[in-house]
Amino acid sequence: MEIADVHDQIDHELVSKTQIEEKINSVAAQVSKDYKDTDLLLVAVLKGAMNTLVAFSQALSINVQMDFMSLSSYGDGLSSSGTIKVRQDLACDVKGRDILIVEDIVDSGHTLDWLIRELKNRGAASVEVFALLEKPSRREVDVPLKYRGYEVPDEFVVGFGLDYKERFRNLDSIAVLKPEVYQGEAV
Ligand code: 5GP
Ligand code: MG
Ligand code: MG
Repeated sequence: MEIADVHDQIDHELVSKTQIEEKINSVAAQVSKDYKDTDLLLVAVLKGAMNTLVAFSQALSINVQMDFMSLSSYGDGLSSSGTIKVRQDLACDVKGRDILIVEDIVDSGHTLDWLIRELKNRGAASVEVFALLEKPSRREVDVPLKYRGYEVPDEFVVGFGLDYKERFRNLDSIAVLKPEVYQGEAV
């Protein structure tokens, strides 16, 4: 299999590296204030949120703990399967904890809706969300987003942690791929 250069497969960029950094830094400054006297636990949803978690946590001035959960609602394709699968659970007990979920993108809202309820069922003291991206036009469940990044149109996006068939996560901006990539003619 020939794997083409990542940039050759991009149709257009939606959010630049600089815009991502600026937004993450400003949300981190706000979160550092809001949780100043709190023992905050960041819960990142793998794998998509990993890039956001790294940049965001390093921009915080408060000392936080981090844990990970690997959830899947999409399988390998472009549309949601509707059911949430836990591929890997948290390592820590969330009972009594103040939690900020770090997410890559809110699409239908089902993943976050499920996760917020799950963490509250486990006894979390508070659960809020920072989502780097959202697609408001696709929302099926209303999810309270305390910290939000950029709105993107109803297009399948990749980069900064977001994948298409497990590729393009290492792209440093948010972009839409050329149609032929989604049609399976290139990987
Ligand atoms: P939900 O529909 O449950 O809100 O979204 C679930 C997950 O699907 C997101 O956390 C994200 O990982 C993935 N997803 C949603 N929209 C996109 C998209 O445009 N691109 C990519 N790569 N993943 C997406
Ligand atoms: Mg995600
Ligand atoms: Mg994915």
